[in-house]
Amino acid sequence: MSFIVAIDGPAGTGKGTITEILSKKMKLVNIDTGATYRCVTLAMIDAGVNLDEIDKIKEILNMIRIELRNEKGEQSVILNGEVVTEKIRSKEVTKLVSQVSSIKEVRLAMAGLQRKMAEGKNVIMEGRDIGTYVFPNADVKIYLDADVEERAKRRFKQNQEKGIDMSYSEILESIKQRDENDKNKEIGALKVAKDAIVIDTTHMTISEVVAEVQKIIQNRKNEIALQEKVYKVREDTKWHRIERKIIKAICSGLYYIVYRVKVTGKVPDEGSYIICANHVSYLDAAGVVIVNKRKISFVAKEDLFYHPFLNWFLHVFDIIPIKRNMQDIEAMKRCLKMLKSGQVLGIFPEGTRKGMEKNVQLKNGAVYMAIKTGVPVIPCGIKGTFKPFTKVNINFGEPIDFSKYKGQDKEKIDEATQIIMDNIIMLTNKEI
Ligand code: C5P
Repeated sequence: MSFIVAIDGPAGTGKGTITEILSKKMKLVNIDTGATYRCVTLAMIDAGVNLDEIDKIKEILNMIRIELRNEKGEQSVILNGEVVTEKIRSKEVTKLVSQVSSIKEVRLAMAGLQRKMAEGKNVIMEGRDIGTYVFPNADVKIYLDADVEERAKRRFKQNQEKGIDMSYSEILESIKQRDENDKNKEIGALKVAKDAIVIDTTHMTISEVVAEVQKIIQNRKNEIALQEKVYKVREDTKWHRIERKIIKAICSGLYYIVYRVKVTGKVPDEGSYIICANHVSYLDAAGVVIVNKRKISFVAKEDLFYHPFLNWFLHVFDIIPIKRNMQDIEAMKRCLKMLKSGQVLGIFPEGTRKGMEKNVQLKNGAVYMAIKTGVPVIPCGIKGTFKPFTKVNINFGEPIDFSKYKGQDKEKIDEATQIIMDNIIMLTNKEI
């Protein structure tokens, strides 16, 4: 898995400087995509190839070897074995590069090369179209911007330091020209990605921009780490089984002290099935788990897993996180895998606590999964307010087979879900 930071924006916004500093600070591989276009341009100039000589350009693209080396924090650019770090910044290359990078064949070849350079690495990649074309699924997308005069001033100063002889007005003109060209490319035009964070650096110092971008990257990294924690599937080792037994014994003791629990009906000791219950409280799933010998993995909303203690607790009981208000394919796949491997799943068709009362549409995932795996559904009616020292009734019904619904349309599946719910309601009202 690689982590991709895309830094896009027009010339002179500080992309190169910011990227270089952050690549060292955050241990990310620095990929300057502009350098790849500059290499093609230099190769064309050296070979005396014009912009309209497509066949010759294709030949160059077939032969070209571009390497970006990061050694001791310094980036060097190697073109066909020769170090061209300085050469590619020359006036001639700068003048032509925007037009060269507009050639479709050049763009396709360079985008492919850039993707290859990032393969399996954690990278910070600067350019014009990284977040929109090269890596539309980048983990972080930043778009740096600044007034054109300010950008020209910065480039003038930078060129003076590097000994490149270009006047301020020449630079300003060249930048304006490049902006225009870059925004109107057929492929990979310069534009702000929908999900990019735009930073206007006109009145910001380099360290201010670095700090802001670093914060954005770090936040995203933390978010990803947390997500990984939430979705981590725990291997059910011997130690984990012992851990679950101990915790279940403790929770069970507490549950029976706090509630007067009464159970009717029984779930099978073997085989796979889905327990569908009504959802009255956060504590009802715990009741179903506690009164059964089998390991029952309930499906629970993803948000609960973001709490550190709950995260650990839910993982101990192999609870499956599910994203709300969308079709969570990953959660569905995990449920199906569990059912196919002979395990027991717990689902609340109401989708949320007191869903029926709130008039929420019943979720028919349980029926879909029962049909797909051929396992029965066991309805379970839970009655109680879950106020301390009150009665809690947990009533299990007979297994329902839904195999005859295979291949039926949504209307029929909804009907099957309603059958489960009717059974649950009946069991909830069962007098004991
Ligand atoms: O960033 P730099 O100024 O070195 O880029 C040189 C030129 O290469 C840009 O003006 C732009 O025309 C082109 N380029 C591009 N797409 C990128 C990076 C650079 O079209 N991802």
